[in-house]
Amino acid sequence: MIRYACDLCKRQIDPDDDLRYVVKMEIYAAFDPAAVNEDEDDRDHLQEIQDVLERLDDAEDDQIGDDVYQQLRFDLCPECRRKFLKNPLGRQVSIAKAVGFSKN
Ligand SMILES: [Zn+2]
Repeated sequence: MIRYACDLCKRQIDPDDDLRYVVKMEIYAAFDPAAVNEDEDDRDHLQEIQDVLERLDDAEDDQIGDDVYQQLRFDLCPECRRKFLKNPLGRQVSIAKAVGFSKN
């Protein structure tokens, strides 16, 4: 039987008692087609993007994959899921608020 642990708090997730939540993140270099179209030789750029995307399929090419495309996967317990949803990017919310509201 596979045991899962929460990737945030490292707590074991007991499948009988707890729901296990899976977080999947996709991080990839964004190519803006509108910006590319302003260029005269947009076909070359599109071809380049196409080449990159094709290389992404090639699992052997790890370096390009890491720079351009990454997929992350985490297991979370219900409690950490709640925390994660409140602040998915790990921003320092309290500090940002203090700065934002300090001008008076
Ligand atoms: Zn947790």
